[in-house]
Amino acid sequence: MFHFHSIRSRLTVTFLLIIFAVMLIISVFLYNRLESYYRHNLQDNLSRSGFLAADFVIGYLREPPGEIEITLSEMAENFSAQSRARVIFIDQNGIVIGDSVRIGALLGQYLDRAEVEAALQGQVGSSIQFSEKTNQHVMQVAVPVQEEGNPPLGAVFLSASLQDISNILTDVRRFLLGATILAAAVVGGGSVILARRFTEPIELLTTAARHMAEGKLGEQIKVSSRDEIGHLAEQFNVMSARLNYYTGSLKNFVTNVSHELRTPLTSLSLLIKSLKEYQMEPEQQQEFYEDLDREVERLIALVNDLLELTKLEETGVQHEPVALDQLIGDIVKQVSPRFARQGVQLISELPAEPVEISGSPLQLRQVLHNLLDNALKYTPSGGWVRVSAWLEADGVGVSIEDTGCGIPQEDQPYIFERFYRVDRARSREMGGTGLGLAIVKETVTAHGGKVWVESEEGKGSTFYLLFPRLVKEGIIKDY
Ligand code: ADP
Repeated sequence: MFHFHSIRSRLTVTFLLIIFAVMLIISVFLYNRLESYYRHNLQDNLSRSGFLAADFVIGYLREPPGEIEITLSEMAENFSAQSRARVIFIDQNGIVIGDSVRIGALLGQYLDRAEVEAALQGQVGSSIQFSEKTNQHVMQVAVPVQEEGNPPLGAVFLSASLQDISNILTDVRRFLLGATILAAAVVGGGSVILARRFTEPIELLTTAARHMAEGKLGEQIKVSSRDEIGHLAEQFNVMSARLNYYTGSLKNFVTNVSHELRTPLTSLSLLIKSLKEYQMEPEQQQEFYEDLDREVERLIALVNDLLELTKLEETGVQHEPVALDQLIGDIVKQVSPRFARQGVQLISELPAEPVEISGSPLQLRQVLHNLLDNALKYTPSGGWVRVSAWLEADGVGVSIEDTGCGIPQEDQPYIFERFYRVDRARSREMGGTGLGLAIVKETVTAHGGKVWVESEEGKGSTFYLLFPRLVKEGIIKDY
């Protein structure tokens, strides 16, 4: 089907118009050049033959012998055979004195022609006229018969048909028309193939995009071309895969959040029902209220962690110079009483020189809080936790080392995932949301840094952070 608005048909029509325009310009130019070349050539030949004949007849015109007309007519016949034109000799009064044509010869007649008049005044006259008798164009040239410096003694008049030229030009016209049709066919066919090569991947892309709009995410298209459309298809595939991944992880996240919310909400519901339906001793009632309070606290912690993650995704990092050593010192001071209460020793080892990085102080504080909270949560009384910071060649390192329960080898790759817990029951009991390390990982990555853990079950864990060092122009290295 021909849709004018499709790229395929527009490309074909445009190419055809271009080829027609180009061929038209070339044809007009070539045709005109050829026509004028042939005409000039004929005119030159005629005037050269005319002058040659003039040299021969000049003696006869100076002193006319007897029976001049027959002799001149014979001579005209000879020249006519050579120049393939009718040759007429004229005296200085414009009277024909020799004619190469025997039948219908103009001998003795006055030849009233502008070219003859010009020749009798010493110039070369020429014109092209249409002869109705022969239905042809005819070229007429008249040259003077004269000696240098003297007035003309007569003229030689030559007339030749332009039929040969006309035949050649007709051939040229046919050839150009054929060439135009052939070029149009080649270009038309080529443009259809070319347009198909262009539009096929676009049609594939359109179909895939429509499928995406209908909700079928993750569709990949196969495009082998390495041009702009190939790049577009590549980017489309990346976008489609990402969208599919994000949608999947969003669904996962929502499912996880719902599960996480269900447990405390179920507990809350049970507690409230019990309080409503059963008569209790005041101490028992108090216990129920404390349980209620704990569940609500857990919900608040979960919502706060979720908000933290969303905020990070939405706003990214508001960079400013942060004195990391001071920040760690502040936090250590702040959390020390809690550590002391649980009988865990908190040690900090900070470098003597100031350590500055680029980032958000609030977000970095949250990272250190989460790691220290975990270290305290999973370290039994009598253990210790050490926070260290040091300068690297092109960055700043921080470690939080504990002598806690450690993390099994097989769990280590997953602990930074949202809601992943090694021991679900224990984590919940400790008030963990399963989001602490996810917040750490996402914040550190957003700061251009990286985080990893080294841990041995039963011995303890060390969490390492590496941040790019601050330089005047900005961050010098991303991890
Ligand atoms: P949670 O709120 O459960 O602590 P996190 O994301 O902070 O969630 O940590 C994920 C899991 O990693 C925890 O449930 C715990 O099993 C393990 N974990 C984190 N930090 C430590 C640590 N210092 N020692 C032992 N296990 C840890």
